[in-house]
This record gives sequence, structure tokens and C-alpha cells, in this order.
Amino acid sequence: MSGSKCRRLSGALVRPLLDSVDCVLFDCDGVIWRGDQAIPGAPQVINLLKESGKKVFFVTNNSTKTRKMYADKLAALGFHASEEEVFGTAYCSAMYLKTVCRLDGKVYLIGSPAMRQELEAVGIQQTGVGPDPVSGKQSDWANVALDPEVKAVLVGFDEHFSYMKLNRALQYLSQQGCLFVGTNRDSRLPLEGGKAVPGTGCLLQAVETAAQCQAQTVGKPNRFMYDCVASQFGLSRDRCLMVGDRLDTDIMLGSNCGLKTLLTLTGVSTVADAEAHQQSGCAERQGMVPDYYVESIADLLPALQG
Ligand code: PLP
Ligand code: CA
Repeated sequence: MSGSKCRRLSGALVRPLLDSVDCVLFDCDGVIWRGDQAIPGAPQVINLLKESGKKVFFVTNNSTKTRKMYADKLAALGFHASEEEVFGTAYCSAMYLKTVCRLDGKVYLIGSPAMRQELEAVGIQQTGVGPDPVSGKQSDWANVALDPEVKAVLVGFDEHFSYMKLNRALQYLSQQGCLFVGTNRDSRLPLEGGKAVPGTGCLLQAVETAAQCQAQTVGKPNRFMYDCVASQFGLSRDRCLMVGDRLDTDIMLGSNCGLKTLLTLTGVSTVADAEAHQQSGCAERQGMVPDYYVESIADLLPALQG
């Protein structure tokens, strides 16, 4: 069946695919925008999909914004979207701790003020956001002051990540029963011109190495992100399309959940990457082969306008 995957989606193929779904999940960076700029044509595609009656959701591994911040950014770029349609890892990790872990206690947060806001919105208190200045001597660091109410360590993107935070996380995780959750494992954040900066995966791995245990991650490709949307909006997986620019997160999420998958080439992964997975003969890697690909989601416009 491998020949029927990774097909270029164009012309007469677009309409039947759109007709076969009620819901489209879009990854954000590299798909509908790059940094602070909308991908040309993306707002029209999303607005027309909604006008034609499709449910549209925004599913991002970026933990630096609340749902409200994403809704504001979407509106500023011309997308018709509401907070309830946004599923970012700041919101989803708060939901995960509350609904799956049923956390009864505080969180030690390596993360952003946006993550603190989403935690507080579901009634979870945190400690840790912001800088953690160097204090004391190395011989005292294993006895650093800990909050006795902390029952989980949550790691997301944190521009103030430091040795002191790494140590504090290790001390919390050394306590019996402390939960360990990460937002996502994206290793690099791509920038214009082929450049990149370290992603949350680097921070999470540092904490995992120190604590000598693995975190449970909430973001794509973990199916929790999809389950969160599906449970709130009653979706059926065979009527959903996942659109993303990364094979290891977006397309893998779609495959994990039994959704139709579409790779767009405006971001990280290439058709050659997808073909390498397809031809590897490795069963696990087949989940990273999309059903279809497009140069840009703007390629869907003619079918939506026609
Ligand atoms: N994490 C961070 C901190 C980011 O800045 C980004 C992209 O800007 C991502 C993750 C990836 O986001 P997405 O899942 O929307 O591609
Ligand atoms: Ca992306």
C-alpha cells in the first residue's frame, strides 16, 4: 500500500479530500505562519474552510502563549478564530495535569508566564517561573529550599532556563511520587535562512539526564493533543485531517490517532525526508509518511474558491 501514500495534493484531488472530512487540525509555525508573518493565502484558506462548514483547530507545540494570546495573534494576522479553537501545549499541559494526572498539589514550573496563566486557569498553583539566580555554594545545592506542596515538575520553553533550575528540578524529582511532565520534545526551532535555536526538547533532556528518568510529554506526537480537541468537540477521527510541516510531530500525531495527514513544505520537513521514511522498510517510520503533501496550504485555495 506504500505507493498510495505521500501523494502530491493538487487539482482534482483536493475537493474529494476536503469532502471526506468535517474537521481540519492545523499546526501553526511553518504551516499558517512563520514567526510573526502569515503564510501567504493561509488566512483565506482557513476562513473559507470555516465558511464551508468545516471545524478548524490550531494545534501547536509552542508553550510560550496562552489560548487568548494565540487568538489575538490569529486575529491580527487575518484568521477568523476563537480561543476555544486553539490547543497549545501551555493549555494542554495544564489540562493534562488536571484531568489525566488529577494533580493534587503545586507544580514546579520550568516555563513561561503563559504556562503559569494556563495552570492557574485550571486551579493549579506553580512556583519557579522567572529567573532563579545563583545562590549559596555547590555543597549546599542538594539542600536547596523546596516548596513542600510541589507534587509535579513541568518543563516547557523557558528563556531563563539555568543550572539552578536544573538542580531544583532534580531535587523535586528525587522526592517520592513527584510527577514529571514535559510540554514537547521539539529539539530545534527553525528561523529564517536555515538558522535555528534550541527548542524545549533540549531543556527537557537536560532535566531527564539530571533526574535519570523520562518525562511524560503532552505535545505532538502524543495523542493527548488530539484527544483534548476530540473530547471537547466530539470529533470522529476518520473525518479529520491533520496538516503539519514536521513529520516527527504533526504527521506522527495524525498517524497515531488514525487521521488523514497532509504535509506542507513551508516549514521543516521535505518530501525527501518523507520518502526516506517510506523506503526505510521500518514499520515505526511509516507513521511519519503523510498521505499527501502540498507546497503550501495556499494550494487548497482554488478548490475552496471554485
Ligand atoms: N516551541 C516553541 C518555543 C516555538 O517557538 C515553536 C515555534 O515557533 C514551536 C515549539 C513549534 O510550534 P508548532 O508546533 O506550531 O510548529
Ligand atoms: Ca510546525
